[in-house]
Amino acid sequence: MKTVMVVEDEVKIRDVILSYLKKEGFKTLEAATGSDALEALRNSSVDLVILDLMLPDMDGEQVCLAIRRMNSMPILMLSARASDNHRIKGLSIGADDYLTKPFDPREVVARIRAILRRTDDSQLLADRSSFNQGHLEIDSLKQMVFCHGEPINLTPNEYKLLLTLAKYPQRHFTRNELVDKVLGYDYEGDIRAIDQHVKNIRYKIEPDPKNPLYIRTVYGSGYRFAGSGR
Ligand code: CA
Repeated sequence: MKTVMVVEDEVKIRDVILSYLKKEGFKTLEAATGSDALEALRNSSVDLVILDLMLPDMDGEQVCLAIRRMNSMPILMLSARASDNHRIKGLSIGADDYLTKPFDPREVVARIRAILRRTDDSQLLADRSSFNQGHLEIDSLKQMVFCHGEPINLTPNEYKLLLTLAKYPQRHFTRNELVDKVLGYDYEGDIRAIDQHVKNIRYKIEPDPKNPLYIRTVYGSGYRFAGSGR
């Protein structure tokens, strides 16, 4: 059973979403403010967060980034205006999807199921995944990477970093998140180590390392994988 947290200060909207989720067999948690949500997320295990952009204490964007610094659970953003959708998308703040109010609660449930399917680790990468018409291939059984069919020599950390990013194409990862996932939670060195790894990977796999096709920089924050196809 998956647990979904609903972060929304408008009681009516929150209750509608909660009741649909319960009806659909989800476990639920709720929060009316950004700080309550962050507090609750520190103490409980949540599979997905529905996050309203307009909260009384914090901007939904800030909450989104704060969640991203903690871990990589998927986030479905709610916004009141269609114009905000550009903001959500443009800022690459780490939301996995977004919906504009008013919405049909069934649509919320459908989106959640789609996100959870997409982010279910067990089905993320095939044994051998191919990107950009076969230019880049990742063989997760052999733990090898190929460019145009030629094996590429990546260090274990470089491989892990590339795999982490490639599992979630277009998903924005912060440096802290990548440090946790690749170097481990007990890593105490400079988080810029991630930048060096990215630089090395780019020189090994990118046709033009200065204009990367695969690992794109999210300015001021982190990285995302932009290869296409699987
Ligand atoms: Ca609100």
